[in-house]
Amino acid sequence: MSPSQIPVAVLGATGSVGQRFISLLDHHPWFNVVALAASDRSVGQKYSEACRWVLNDPMPEFAREKVIVPATPDCIDAKIVFSALHNEIAKDLEPQFAQTGFAVCSNASSYRRGEDVPLLLPEVNAEHIQLVKKQREQRGWSGCILTNPNCTSTGLTVALKALDDSFGVKKVFAVSLQALSGAGYPGVPSLDIIDNVIPNINGEEEKVEWEPRKMLGKFNNNKIDLADIRFSAHTNRVAVIDGHTVCVSVEFSRPADPETAEAALRAYRAPASASELPSNPRPVIEVRSEADRPQPRLDRLTGKGMTTVVGRVRRDPILDLKFVVLSHNTIRGAAGGSIYNAELLVNEGLL
Ligand code: NAP
Repeated sequence: MSPSQIPVAVLGATGSVGQRFISLLDHHPWFNVVALAASDRSVGQKYSEACRWVLNDPMPEFAREKVIVPATPDCIDAKIVFSALHNEIAKDLEPQFAQTGFAVCSNASSYRRGEDVPLLLPEVNAEHIQLVKKQREQRGWSGCILTNPNCTSTGLTVALKALDDSFGVKKVFAVSLQALSGAGYPGVPSLDIIDNVIPNINGEEEKVEWEPRKMLGKFNNNKIDLADIRFSAHTNRVAVIDGHTVCVSVEFSRPADPETAEAALRAYRAPASASELPSNPRPVIEVRSEADRPQPRLDRLTGKGMTTVVGRVRRDPILDLKFVVLSHNTIRGAAGGSIYNAELLVNEGLL
């Protein structure tokens, strides 16, 4: 089968992440969207009627007339399903798809901690995709589940990977400023967030303190040894539409100064198995030298929203270095990340 013929479906197609999938899959070189699924509220309606489109780019023509189907394996004829379902729904539905033979590329957190489930950023840990073989053996599935990390861990982990390779990361202290689209649509009520910062996002700190350790861990004997890095995270919701900013301080095991750290970040490349994929970020990391960058409004669409943007690399008086990292939460941190994972699966002959 030539890649341009691979039929795919989107589960949760009408939501915040679902809309990004529709937008990013329009004219994708390998994937052809054959089905859009959502809740009972939307089933039976045309996508253009069921979906309150909130992206700046217009709704793609291919989606407008598609009739929404239920999110069940018997209603969908595709090879890959992109899941933008909430965790509790994903927990029940995604294994049903994997068992029936679909490759599920999920944004939900339900299976990220599974010891046989890849938690992937292809520019960081492409080799972890090999866990799919163990997953299929252990669970007797012909399909599989691949996950991408939570959107705050995404840019943070890409930057840490480049620094870990060069200096060995020991401790990380991170404070996030997370966009509203990360809470889905309609998300946080306007009267709660305008003129305000909300210093809690349920379950988010635990994810940011754990998920990078899996992705930065070593793939050994068919399992992942978690990276020996200590994390402390504070996560906050702010009145930004798209783009998560994280302020990070890091302690290293080898000496690092701002200039060599910036050089390591700039020089970082995706592994060969990921670097030619259609969604590979170009560049993987952009380093800004201005004192007031990165900013979400100005920098979130760098590299079509797939690039991790770093700035303000400087000495930290308590740990070693500090910097600011920005990543587009619904593109690199969600739909774009899942599509990149699916491309890796296809390229590795594991579909
Ligand atoms: P959202 O805007 O609330 O959208 C939820 C989608 O799920 C809608 O399409 C909804 O369809 C559908 N849905 C609800 N109940 C369903 C059911 N029983 N069966 C089938 N479909 C159902 O949520 P979101 O922000 O896109 O988040 C989706 C997932 O991605 C979550 O697990 C989230 O944690 C994760 N994630 C989000 C981000 C982000 O930046 N937003 C980043 C990373 C990961 P209807 O319109 O028909 O109700």
